[in-house]
Amino acid sequence: MIRKMREPLAFEISSHGKRAVRMPELDVPEKKDIFGGLPVRKEIDGFPELSEVEVTRHFTRLSQTNYCVDLGIYPLGSCTMKYNPKVNEKIASLPAFTGAHPNAPQDVVQGSLRVLKQTEDLLCEIAGMDAFSLQPAAGAHGELTGMMLIRAALEDRGDPRKYVLIPDSAHGTNPSSAHICGYTVKEIKSNEIGTIDLEGLAAVMNDDVAALMVTNPNTLGVFESDICRIAEIVHSKGGLLYMDGANMNALTGIVRPGDMGVDVLHINLHKTFSTPHGGGGPGSGPVGVKKALVPYLPVPVIGEKDGKLVLDSGRPKTIGRVRSFYGNFLVILRALAYILNLGPEGVREIAETAVLNANYIRKSLEGEFHLKYAAPTLHECVFSDKFQKEFGVSNLDIAKRLIDYGLHPPTMSFPLIVHGALMIEPTETESKRDLDFFIDAMKAIAKEAKKDPETLHAAPHVTYVRRLDETAAARNPVLKWEKK
Ligand SMILES: *Cc1c(COP(=O)(O)O)cnc(C)c1O
Repeated sequence: MIRKMREPLAFEISSHGKRAVRMPELDVPEKKDIFGGLPVRKEIDGFPELSEVEVTRHFTRLSQTNYCVDLGIYPLGSCTMKYNPKVNEKIASLPAFTGAHPNAPQDVVQGSLRVLKQTEDLLCEIAGMDAFSLQPAAGAHGELTGMMLIRAALEDRGDPRKYVLIPDSAHGTNPSSAHICGYTVKEIKSNEIGTIDLEGLAAVMNDDVAALMVTNPNTLGVFESDICRIAEIVHSKGGLLYMDGANMNALTGIVRPGDMGVDVLHINLHKTFSTPHGGGGPGSGPVGVKKALVPYLPVPVIGEKDGKLVLDSGRPKTIGRVRSFYGNFLVILRALAYILNLGPEGVREIAETAVLNANYIRKSLEGEFHLKYAAPTLHECVFSDKFQKEFGVSNLDIAKRLIDYGLHPPTMSFPLIVHGALMIEPTETESKRDLDFFIDAMKAIAKEAKKDPETLHAAPHVTYVRRLDETAAARNPVLKWEKK
C-alpha cells in the first residue's frame, strides 16, 4: 500500500531566518511607515519562515490532496457535479462584464441587461414557462422565492391556505422552504416504484392545501410519469404545483415542466448550466412562473422601453426584492454562453447523455449492489449496501474504500427512503472510459466485501488521514494552531 508523507503545517516546518528571496542590503534610508507599516499580522506569533522550495512543495503537495472534477468523476447524487467547459469561464471573466458596476446608469450597461434578458427568454423556452426571475442566489433560495410567489398569489385570492404537500422522495430543502414561508408540511408516501401515489394524493388534497412541491425527477432519479394527472388533482382543489427543477439535466430539450402543468419551478444554473457546483461558491436558482404569477415576481424585472432595456420596479403586487442587484450575474452569463454554445440539439443531448450514463452504471452494477427500486431511472440511480451488510460492510466502508481507488465517493445515506443508500449521479460529461473505471472499482469493492471486510473497515489507506471521526470535526473544530 502506498503511504504518502504527512504534510505538516507551514508553522511546524518553519525555522527562524529562512527566506524565499534575499534582497541586497539597503543603500537608501529605510522607510518603515509607508501605508501604516508592513502588512504583517502581529497577532501571529512565530510567523512561518521557509525557503522557496519548501513553500512551493508545501502548497503543491496540499493541492494534490484535493479531489476535483478536473481530475475524475464526482458521482455525488442529487448534486450534478459535472465538468464545465472552460470557454464559459473565459467568457465570464471578460473585463467588459467583470468591470461593470451594478449601480452604473442603465444606458451604459445595455449589453449586460441583454445578457439577463436573453437568459430569461432561453430559460422560458427550455422550461416552458412564461417568465423567469434570475435573482435567487441558490436552489433553496429559488424554492423560497417560489413559495413566496405562491403565497402572494393565494393571499390575493383571499386565502393563503395552510399546508404544503411534499413527497418523502423530495430534496431535503423543500420542506424547509415551505416551512420558512409559513406553511405546515404534510409528507406523502411514495408507492412501491418510488413515485407519488395518485389515490393517496387525491385523499389529502383539499381547500387547505396551498401547493404540492414535487422534485422531478425525484431523488431516486425516477420521473413522475403521472405528473399531468398530479397537476390536475392539485389544480382541481385550487392548489398550485411547484416543481423543484434543480436537476434539469435529466429533462432539457425532451420535456418542459410548463407543459406538464407546473405553475412555478426553480432551476439550478450551478448544476445544469455550467457553473462549478460545490464549495459554497456563488450559485443561481432562477424561478420560472406561469402567467398568473407574473405580477408577483421580485423587482426589478427587465422590461423594454423605446428600444432599450430598463429595470422596472413599479409593480404593485411584487413580493419585493429577494437579493441585491440582479442575481449572481457571472453565473447567469456562464449559463447563457453554455446554452448558446450547445444550441437546441446540444441542450437535448445534455439530458440524453445524462440518462444514458446513469443507466449504464445502474445496469453494470445491478446484481453486485442492491437496488431497492429496480426500474430504469433518469439522471441518477440509488443502490444500497444490503448485499454487503451480510459481511458487515456498510455504505460508509464502500465510500471510504473508493478513495483508495482514486475516486470521489457517491452521496451516502440519502434519500432516506433507501436504507444504506449509495446515490450515484455520473452526469453527462463522463466518458465511457471514466464510467468503466468507476464501475470496475465498485465491482472490486463488492468482491473485497466478501473476502476481506477488514480492509474496507480501515479504508481509506492511501490518504494523509484515515478514518476520521466525522462528528468531532463539526462539534469541536480546531481553527487555530497553537505552538507546542
Ligand atoms: C441541489 C438541490 C437543491 C438545493 O440547491 P442549492 O443550490 O444547494 O440550495 C434543491 N433541490 C434539489 C433536487 C437539488 O438537487
